[in-house]
Amino acid sequence: MDVLRRVADARAFRASVPGSLGFVPTLGALHAGHGSLVERAVRERAAAIASLFVNPTQFGPGEDLAAYPRREAEDLAFLERLGCSAVFVPSVEEMYPPGDDTRVQPGAIAARLEGAARPGHLTGVATVVTKLFAVVRPDVAYFGQKDFQQLRVVQALAGDLRLGVRVVGCPTVRDEDGLALSSRNAYLSADERRAALALPRGLFAARADWERGERDPKRLADRVRQHAAALALEYVSVADPLTLAELTRAAERAVISLAARVGRARLIDNVLLGMDVSELV
Ligand code: AMP
Repeated sequence: MDVLRRVADARAFRASVPGSLGFVPTLGALHAGHGSLVERAVRERAAAIASLFVNPTQFGPGEDLAAYPRREAEDLAFLERLGCSAVFVPSVEEMYPPGDDTRVQPGAIAARLEGAARPGHLTGVATVVTKLFAVVRPDVAYFGQKDFQQLRVVQALAGDLRLGVRVVGCPTVRDEDGLALSSRNAYLSADERRAALALPRGLFAARADWERGERDPKRLADRVRQHAAALALEYVSVADPLTLAELTRAAERAVISLAARVGRARLIDNVLLGMDVSELV
């Protein structure tokens, strides 16, 4: 596996891959959720490349940029075991050269939810993903459903900016007890982790209600809130999966998403109603 630290090295790698290249961008501190994306890229494409980059522009003031777990040696070994052909591990200066002052501003899709709760976050994501796509020039990029609004923002930017990258959404990988895998779960104590199980349980209960015919978004959101009553929920949303506009009726397809603070972790999760993430392009 090639470990590429410079933009020029990544460009040379791309030039050396004659066939279809799959790409999995990450912040590192890899777990089986990331692994599922990498496995898919390895399986489906001629070659797979991942990136490890804790992108400063997607963290707001007071967020966990400094504390974010960094485990490069373990991450490289994990990617190698999965059969990744290369990994791009740039420095901040390599991605944001001196004088860098250009940002990619997503549209209305980024106005609510994470966009509202974390001002500038999705602009930072859109900017770094655009840069990474420009350097790596993949044919297909794999993103997790876990960060649903991010997936939609990246799908929109790839299409709107005509980047020529297909952005594939992959299902959320969960622990056996239902908690969505996240690098930020490392911040949880054993008690907090147990308490956090109310999040997936609330989402699954609301999905079961929907499957039994409940179509009122308020009642679906209330079901989530009942389960998570002991937690500090930031939002519960029942939205259109394409636009992320809030629904007045969850008639056909919807995404229920939430954010909550548990101890010092900020966790997000979601479930789709009436569709599978693979249907989104
Ligand atoms: P991150 O390192 O948190 O930026 O995540 C990198 C990629 O992995 C993103 O596309 C995430 O949506 C995806 N991802 C993170 N956690 C999971 C999970 N539990 N299941 C599936 N994909 C995930």
